[in-house]
Amino acid sequence: MGAGGLRRGRGLDGHGLPHGRADHVHGPLHRAPAGSGGSGRQRDGLGARPARARRGRPGPPHRDPHPSLALAARGAGRYGERTRGRPRPHDSRAGDRDPGHADRRGDAAHARQADQLPARGRGHQTRRDRHGAGSHRRVGPASRKPSRDPGRAHRARGLTLDLPPPTPPIHDDREVCLDGLPVPRVLGRVGRKGGPVLVLFGAVHGNEPAGVRAIRRVMPELEARADRLRGEVVALAGNRGALAKGVRFVTRDLNRKWTFEGIERVRTSDPASLADEDLEQRAILEQLEPVLAHAHEPVTVLDLHTTSGSGAPFCCMSDTLRNLRIGLGLPVPLILGLEEVIDGTMLGYLSDVGHRGIAFEGGRHDDPVTVDHHEAAIWLVVARTGLLPPGEIPDLAGHRRRLEAACQGLPRVVEVRYRHVVHEGDGFEMRPGFRNFDPVRKGQVLAEDRTGEIRAPMSGRLLLPRYQGQGEDGFFLGRVVPRSVLRLSRSIRRLGLDDALGRLPTVRRDPLDPDRLVVPRAVARGPLVDLFHLCGYRRRVDQGEHVVYVRRRQDRLL
Ligand SMILES: [Zn+2]
Repeated sequence: MGAGGLRRGRGLDGHGLPHGRADHVHGPLHRAPAGSGGSGRQRDGLGARPARARRGRPGPPHRDPHPSLALAARGAGRYGERTRGRPRPHDSRAGDRDPGHADRRGDAAHARQADQLPARGRGHQTRRDRHGAGSHRRVGPASRKPSRDPGRAHRARGLTLDLPPPTPPIHDDREVCLDGLPVPRVLGRVGRKGGPVLVLFGAVHGNEPAGVRAIRRVMPELEARADRLRGEVVALAGNRGALAKGVRFVTRDLNRKWTFEGIERVRTSDPASLADEDLEQRAILEQLEPVLAHAHEPVTVLDLHTTSGSGAPFCCMSDTLRNLRIGLGLPVPLILGLEEVIDGTMLGYLSDVGHRGIAFEGGRHDDPVTVDHHEAAIWLVVARTGLLPPGEIPDLAGHRRRLEAACQGLPRVVEVRYRHVVHEGDGFEMRPGFRNFDPVRKGQVLAEDRTGEIRAPMSGRLLLPRYQGQGEDGFFLGRVVPRSVLRLSRSIRRLGLDDALGRLPTVRRDPLDPDRLVVPRAVARGPLVDLFHLCGYRRRVDQGEHVVYVRRRQDRLL
């Protein structure tokens, strides 16, 4: 985000920054300057590595946790290239404000203002020269002349060189139907290139057809307004094979396969050797890669899901500023940090490579209202991303009201603090009657398995209780995040104050990877962990006597 060239400041901003101008230089995910301590070429020769060099001096050596950034290079790289030095549809800084939930009244006029991100130029700008990646230099009034970055032109030139070959197409002639109508991989595509891009996903889990139904409702409406669309909407079917069988997945959960290693394996494998979810993922990559590669700004992916139990709609996403921009525009509870406790989600991956990924859970699988919720979410995101003026969207205020009504009394933001993992043969069974977001007390019996009763290890909110046979997530426990804390969290990150975490006693920033903070196990609890979460370091990795907290790569690309 913020890949544009020069932007005018607007004087004193909400954070007390002085007048000035920010020179946004987007190095991340582009090829690094040759000889800068590590070329952009990855070990497999396909992807690009974030440029790490600080202004005027080489950056730290980089240990990339991912063997390939193929999509990253193709997606994030391209919009960095195309937008440099020319106006962008949105100002990311402006969008990082929290406009969405000021509006809960549902009146049309108010919704018109609240549902669209603020225009560029209204936001504040911050210094963000963090770890040499994605450096955003603040140029004060005394130094209006943009400083030179010798790597900039090189990165711009090198962008396309790093593009890997496209994923070879596969032949997939399976006929899959839902409600008597065919479900092709591409459910629809409407609009024009050059503006915001929204990718809709339905049925990533095969037993969740509501998303496909909602997409079928929305696409004709979008096509009727195609000439007014500022960008493009692409709708894709997820797990077609599982959808045909009415199951969540056939062999493996399609939404747990999006690690960099896994993607590289699937995209380079012989198609004849791929089956079930590998085949699905390959077919999705074939469609998704060109969309990401040709985007002029971060692509927004809205992944439509449903739950086995009944309950209010909500959304989940990785805790990045870019995601919060869109997620906070939906008047439903927001679960933060789910992707950080689950490996290999598609949206976690998309967040890592610089795009936005939001999972919207519309309600129970077979509840007709769920489709209404999905439809409402799609329209609100269409408005939020600026694809259509709010006035062009049919019944936008009604869609907002529908979601608000379904979520009354629920917390606005909940962060995941605990995950109960179910292993095959555990005999896990949730106690009946639980609903999503139900408050639970520490010690309360929530489920049982072969070993006996399973009690809540902490007090909080119960999230995603499993009342179905598949999947390895038994339940999650979360804690409500007050709005003030969320605001503080966003401000800290926008201002780059989280850089100071590595200077705290007992905390060490990994010299090879600035997204990792290492602490002794003995201190990895309480307020320190709260502070890490506040700054977006949510993934916990236990390493012997130490614990590593990892943030999404994207948060330093801003
Ligand atoms: Zn699902």
